[in-house]
Formats: sequence, structure tokens, C-alpha cells
Amino acid sequence: MAIVNNRLTAEQYEANFSDIHPPFETRNAALVEANRCLFCYDAPCVKSCPTSIDIPKFIRQITTDNLKGSAHTIFSANIMGGGCSKVCPVEKLCEGSCVYTLMDEPPIPIAKLQRLSTEKAIAEKWPLFQRKPSQNKNVAVVGAGPAGLSCAHTLSREGIDVTVFEKESKGGGLMTYGIAAYKVTPQFCEDEVNFITSLGGIVIQYNQELGKTVSLSDLQQNYDAVYLSVGVGLARQLDIPGENLRGVEDAIRFIYDIRTSGFPSIPVGDRVAVIGLGMTAIDAATQAKRLGASEVTIIYRRTQDEMPCTEVELDLAKLDGCRIVWLAAPQEIVGQNGQVTQLICNRMRLGEPDASGRRSPVETGETITLDVDMVIKAAGQMPFEELVSINQLENRKGKITIDGACSTNLNGVFAGGDCVNGGKEVVDAVQAGKDGAKAILAFLK
Ligand SMILES: Cc1cc2nc3c(=O)[nH]c(=O)nc-3n(C[C@H](O)[C@H](O)[C@H](O)COP(=O)(O)OP(=O)(O)OC[C@H]3O[C@@H](n4cnc5c(N)ncnc54)[C@H](O)[C@@H]3O)c2cc1C
Repeated sequence: MAIVNNRLTAEQYEANFSDIHPPFETRNAALVEANRCLFCYDAPCVKSCPTSIDIPKFIRQITTDNLKGSAHTIFSANIMGGGCSKVCPVEKLCEGSCVYTLMDEPPIPIAKLQRLSTEKAIAEKWPLFQRKPSQNKNVAVVGAGPAGLSCAHTLSREGIDVTVFEKESKGGGLMTYGIAAYKVTPQFCEDEVNFITSLGGIVIQYNQELGKTVSLSDLQQNYDAVYLSVGVGLARQLDIPGENLRGVEDAIRFIYDIRTSGFPSIPVGDRVAVIGLGMTAIDAATQAKRLGASEVTIIYRRTQDEMPCTEVELDLAKLDGCRIVWLAAPQEIVGQNGQVTQLICNRMRLGEPDASGRRSPVETGETITLDVDMVIKAAGQMPFEELVSINQLENRKGKITIDGACSTNLNGVFAGGDCVNGGKEVVDAVQAGKDGAKAILAFLK
């Protein structure tokens, strides 16, 4: 057993990381699906989209060959509608509530149709929006992820000048650095960021980190308002013995490396255990397998009824050959010569519901031992507690507290996205950015 890179051929890497949701092959194939839409009154798909995209309208525009209009409809509600068409868990959002789904028929492939017009708009750089004349007001946005970019675009359309401070060298946040490579490519993410900033009035200053190269008090002094959209940080600690052994990896760091380096350069174990069963765990497990690990086992302390990922994501992991061990929680990581060799887990049973409403896992006293050479931690992410506390921002365990108008306890400082909700989905962050921009516009008046 060993952790090594370069396990596969170039062709195998390419096949393993190719797009899992390919686009329509022909225009007619898209038209057939678009024409199945019932254009429901009070459409349930719109209600279940956090950004309320007018789905029946954009689909009708596709049926009449009005792709520009269709893209405009999508981007007006969700400026990351292109990325969302690739990464949204649509089975629990728009497609999950499509009336066809309720009739046990295949739903309208809303994401695939959304991808059709948004991808074309981004590839052909359609200038779909115009800025209002400058209002001579400036806003600082911290973090160029979905929440920050959505806030920046909404403000800039209203004539507000926006400067985005981003600690990485590229924009897009977790779209660029976190989400699995087979869902969305780094190139698409870059094109999407350029499409958003092509409106004008948005300057992104890269390699600028709040708390290091930029201070909140400077931003408060130099800008009319500040929007914080810094997301969340690395994976939660397991707080068990052996966590510092070689071979114990943070899922976010592991995925970041996959996104920023070539696939062959990423070392992966023969036998990998992934702790957790959210989107991050699924992405880490499937990508470890696709990098050439021979065995990947996902450890989850509850049962399928309580799991945070969707059935579709679970099926993806199973199809990739990942094994799931239900009702098990890590107790100790064992090593030899400083390197992981085993993972010991407590066998759990379900007890009474906890604060989340889900039945809580309780130790049974039994243990199981897995022979592994790599352990990937993906049991939730930690907010930037220190950054938030140092800046005297009211928070709940590092999650920034905001009022109904997206305002923090500091005058003129607003916040939204994962840094407030603790980690949801891209589409929620986009809506948070829109809400933040609306609140800032009201504040600036
Ligand atoms: C592994 C993984 C897989 C996921 N898969 C999906 C998926 O398939 N579908 C889906 O919808 N959602 C998915 N999500 C969730 C989704 O990516 C997030 O909900 C979304 O990106 C949150 O947007 P945000 O703008 O709030 O934060 P982020 O995307 O985290 O963006 C925050 C930005 O702030 C920057 N930043 C942080 N600190 C500072 C600082 N001090 N100074 C300056 N800049 C800073 C960061 O570099 C980043 O660019 C996934 C998340 C993870 C971790």
C-alpha cells in the first residue's frame, strides 16, 4: 500500500474526468425536450429555484430559437446560471419539483436546457446587460466566489463601482477551487468570471487577503459599503488520535490540488477512507477513485435516511465503485513509521433526534478496523472564526450574523453566502449576493 501519483495513463485521466453531464448533441434533441415543457402556471420549478429563474419563460424562448432572450432571462435572475446548470443538485431543486417527476415521468432536463443558452452566451461573449450611469458610489466586496460576484454584478448594473478583493489568483471561489473537475472545468469557471466582469464597473484585485494585505477598517474608510463573502475554510478537525499522521488529508485541500495541478501529479492512496457524506465527501471519494485508488470507503455515522448528499450523488459514488460503511464514526487513526495504516471506527446506532432534527448517532461500544493508507476528512467545513472575531463581527461559532437586511453589527458592512449560512450550494450563494446588493443599494440611498 502506498500513496503515489501518476497511477493512470493520460487517456484514462481524460476519460475519468470528462464532463458527467454532456450537452445536447443536436439542436433538435434540445427542441424535443423543450417542447415537452407544460409551461405550468405558478410553476413549481421556479418556486424551488433559490434564485427564482423564470424557467418556463427561458424554455419557451429556446423553443422559438431565441437563445439570446433565453440567456438573458436566466442571467437576470442568476448571473452564474451557466455554472449552476452544471453543478446544481437539480434533483432536489427545479427538476425534482417538475410536474413530470410528480407523475413518475422523466422531468424536463432543465439544467441541460439552461446550459444550452448560457454556454453559448458565455462562449460568444454576448453583451446582455448594460450598466446604469455611474452613481459615484463605491463598494468593496471581499471574496470573488458566487456570493461576491453576484453581489458585484447586481451593484454594477445599478451604476455602483465595485472593487473585489480576492485572496486567490483566480475568481469563482469554490466553483473554481472546490467543485469536482468532472462537473465543471477550470476553463469554464474562468470564462464565467470574465463574462460577469465584462459588464464593466467591477475590478477584481487578486492575491489580496482580508486580515493580511487588506484590513476591514481600511475598507470601511475608503468605500461607501463593504460586502463580506469569504465563504468557509478547511475541513473540520476529527479530534481523534493519529490525525497528524502522513496520509491524513483535508478534503478541501485535496480537491484544491486536483483543481490547480495536473491530474497525474496528485498522489492518492491504494486504500482510501473518506469521512463524511456531504457533497465534499462525495467529490473527494469519486475523485480519489478516478485518480486510480483501488479501494475507496466512505464512512458515515448515520444511515441513508439522514445523509446530507442527494440520492443522485450517492449513486455517483456507488457507480464509481466507492463502498459506503453506514453507522460508523472514526475513533482512531493508526500508523507505522508516521504513515497511516489503519482506521478504527466506532459502530454507531441511531438515538433520539438532535438539533438538526435528524436521529443522532450513539456509540454501541463495538469497533471495526479498516486497512487504509489514506484518510480524507470531509465532515463539514470550518468558518473563519479568527478573522470574524478579530474584526468584532457578531457571529455564531464563526458564522457571521446578519439581520433581515443582510447587515452585520458593523455599520455599512454586509455579508452573505457560505460565511453566513455555514455552507450551502452555489445557487444559494448567488441569491445571497443579490439580497446583499439590494440591501446595500437601500443603504446607499
Ligand atoms: C468540495 C465541494 C464541492 C461542492 N460541490 C457543489 C456542487 O456540486 N454544487 C453546488 O451547488 N455547490 C457545491 N458546493 C458548495 C458551493 O461551492 C458553495 O456553497 C459556494 O461556492 C459558496 O459561495 P461563496 O461565494 O459563499 O463562497 P466561496 O465559493 O467559498 O467563495 C469565497 C471566496 O472568498 C475568498 N476568500 C476567503 N477568505 C478571504 C479573505 N480573507 N480575503 C479575500 N478573499 C477571501 C476565497 O478565496 C473565495 O474565492 C461544494 C462545496 C465544496 C467544498
